[in-house]
Amino acid sequence: MMTRISLVAAENFKLNASTTGEHPSSKRQSVTGVQRGVWNVGVSVVLMIGVWWLAVVNAHAKLNVVATTPDIGAIAREIGGEKIDLTILARPTEDPHFVDPKPSFIVKLNRADVLIHGGADLEVGWLPRLVEQARNAKIVGAAKGEVRCCEGVQMLEVPEKLDRSGGDIHAAGNPHFLVDPENAKIVAHHIADTFATLDAANREFYLEREKQFNATLERKLVEWQEKLVSFKGQHLVAYHNSWLYFANRFGLKIELFLEPKPGIPPSPQHLTTVIAKMKELNARVVIVDPYLNRKTADTVARATGAKVVSVTQFPGGVKGTEGGYVALMDYLVNSLAAALGTEK
Ligand SMILES: [Zn+2]
Repeated sequence: MMTRISLVAAENFKLNASTTGEHPSSKRQSVTGVQRGVWNVGVSVVLMIGVWWLAVVNAHAKLNVVATTPDIGAIAREIGGEKIDLTILARPTEDPHFVDPKPSFIVKLNRADVLIHGGADLEVGWLPRLVEQARNAKIVGAAKGEVRCCEGVQMLEVPEKLDRSGGDIHAAGNPHFLVDPENAKIVAHHIADTFATLDAANREFYLEREKQFNATLERKLVEWQEKLVSFKGQHLVAYHNSWLYFANRFGLKIELFLEPKPGIPPSPQHLTTVIAKMKELNARVVIVDPYLNRKTADTVARATGAKVVSVTQFPGGVKGTEGGYVALMDYLVNSLAAALGTEK
């Protein structure tokens, strides 16, 4: 910015000096006086241009937003639209518990005005160290730019005490709460609130977008519940325990898992137990996220006559979910309704 103003000043001065049209050696005193006056006017013009330029830059500065996972990112985009520059760290086909921490993430976090993360230990294996290395006071320690999505969410499966023994990666409670649209509303509110505070000039824009997003969810929730209502109480099997909030919202039972504990790979012994329970409960659908072992799910399905359905918690994780949070929920509801509605 300084360089640009200095250049303008130099150009201005050259122009003014060359248009006086007098030889530098004649009328030395008056030429100097004229030059000084021209110089003063030039400086004022340059300063005015500088102030105007700063105002323009500030008016168009977008909030620099970093979201940890694509579901959070999709909601940030719903609220922020084109008023924000958004970076999503995890890929939609990546396990959110085990994201590959690239050095470029540190640069993004260093420049962020806002960091939006789950706040419930989903990213505990990779995010804290990146944030520490980014050294950005705007996004840590309850700073205005740190959004912890879980605040206000009714967290489920929270143990009496934190216990990571045995490799359980849900030691602080089940962190996959965003597959419940009611929780998406809570998260949208946190995000809108933060954007409106940090970018007051666009406050109304963010609040209006939140209102629209909520209205869409209200309308769609009725539709989604209607589509799944006839399957109330039915058992599905999940590879990983990331569907509890979804199951509760839509009256399904997703309590059997191919993993013996979240984050622990399935053992033959555990799978034998699961297969027996599936037969007992008449569970006819196995759901599996893109980053988990589909072959294991296929094996279990073959042994029980069940159907495997590819699911994802993240927009873009499975074909047809790229459109955002609503597209993701549409896909989940439609594909599960289709699978559950199929005769065995
Ligand atoms: Zn998990």
